[in-house]
Amino acid sequence: MEINVIGAGLSGSEAAWQAAQAGLKVNLYEMRPNVQSPAHETAFFGELICSNSLGSIMPERASGMLKEELRVLNSLLLRIAEETALPAGSALAVDRNAFAEKITQQIENHPNITIIREEVKNIPDSPTIICTGPLTSDDFSAAISEFTGSDNLFFFDAIAPIVNESSIDFSIAFRASRYDRGTDEEGDYINCPMNKEQYNIFVDALIQAEKINIREFETDIQSGVTAGAGNFFEGCLPVEVMASRGPDTLAFGPLTPRGLLHHTEERPYAIVQLRRDNLAGSLYNIVGFQTNLKFPEQKRVFRLIPGLENADFFRYGQMHRNTFLFSPDILNQSLQTKKRADLFIAGQLTGVEGYMGNIATGLLAGINIARLIQNKSLFELPETTMLGALTHYITHAREKDFQPMKANFGILPPHAKKIRDKRKRYLLYTERGLSDLQAYLGKSER
Ligand SMILES: Cc1cc2nc3c(=O)[nH]c(=O)nc-3n(C[C@H](O)[C@H](O)[C@H](O)COP(=O)(O)OP(=O)(O)OC[C@H]3O[C@@H](n4cnc5c(N)ncnc54)[C@H](O)[C@@H]3O)c2cc1C
Repeated sequence: MEINVIGAGLSGSEAAWQAAQAGLKVNLYEMRPNVQSPAHETAFFGELICSNSLGSIMPERASGMLKEELRVLNSLLLRIAEETALPAGSALAVDRNAFAEKITQQIENHPNITIIREEVKNIPDSPTIICTGPLTSDDFSAAISEFTGSDNLFFFDAIAPIVNESSIDFSIAFRASRYDRGTDEEGDYINCPMNKEQYNIFVDALIQAEKINIREFETDIQSGVTAGAGNFFEGCLPVEVMASRGPDTLAFGPLTPRGLLHHTEERPYAIVQLRRDNLAGSLYNIVGFQTNLKFPEQKRVFRLIPGLENADFFRYGQMHRNTFLFSPDILNQSLQTKKRADLFIAGQLTGVEGYMGNIATGLLAGINIARLIQNKSLFELPETTMLGALTHYITHAREKDFQPMKANFGILPPHAKKIRDKRKRYLLYTERGLSDLQAYLGKSER
């Protein structure tokens, strides 16, 4: 049986390999080098477009946990990453050329894979995995948008930083909803009040902080991104750009204390709000703080916000071109589309972020398309595994919370008993996930 994999980046290379290893004949389509993406530079498969680090290898880190699972699931790209690793302490950093070259060789030499170097413009009618990534070509984006409905396809990522709730100082911050119009009795938001002096110091630091150099194809971010779909990114400006428009722009905009004043004794000049970001309520994003500041600068400047002095950042804010889908409407947890049983989507398009997460979704889609064709039940991994938690998050998140998500412990179901020691808690997550994964694989029909 023949299948198509479209895109030979991180997810597509892994997906093609997994399906081919399971005995399927794979047509792997890649548009490079005939059509280049705005960020790729070579014709190699699995090219890393930015950092050469695939994250931590420590089992007490979320990315380390995901690697342990990918080892159990026989990931090709993880094996090649380990073979081409460079000394990088506790991180898995690779020689990017050796990494991509080796992936290309392995795929080219696989007897079940046929490589077709062309841009795909329409979704094929036969069994297919779409893996065209955050920089999917324009024509193919239009085809995907037609399939999913344009409200479900986004073109820009405007991510506000996410902090760990347990690192917020609740002697300063308080829970409440504006005008007490919330769904949660305690209040849907965490609010960090600022007096005028604190506000001015914060705004000055924000304006002067170092920014990430944006790439040529991202210049429209500076003028406000009105593309995209739904109401996610309408008029979406980086917080530092908004701050530079005038000293009180933020205080009269996203930081207005209106509707919250009756919760405080002293009248705050401004209030920073944080909104729940995950089902477990352990992660909160800073509302309206999509930003292009460099990561260390975000840590320094956002820690000036009263209540966030010791904030532990799960993820920093970012704004860049990123095509991704509103997966809760489109995908099952197996990465199969709801509308078409023989169509799967993997990689950054699904809303999973980070090199390892993208490799992992490619692996799952590759295994599952083979299982579908072989009439076996599709894998939906336990939520206690990192890959299971990621696929659960992207297929169940609420619309207003949905943002691309990378591997992190905040998306896992918490332990039944509170474990204070962070390292121990995280190690136990990894142990629990691996044991559940082994049990799941043991029970599934091979
Ligand atoms: C600018 C930028 C920087 C990033 N930096 C990092 C980072 O440092 N660390 C990190 O962990 N993550 C980073 N990411 C996020 C993400 O992890 C990577 O983009 C990752 O490569 C995504 O994997 P993927 O398989 O979904 O897409 P890709 O690896 O991009 O693969 C998609 C492939 O599909 C091909 N393609 C696209 N359209 C078509 C078509 N119509 N027909 C045929 N082929 C097509 C492309 O040429 C490409 O080879 C970054 C994302 C962006 C946009």
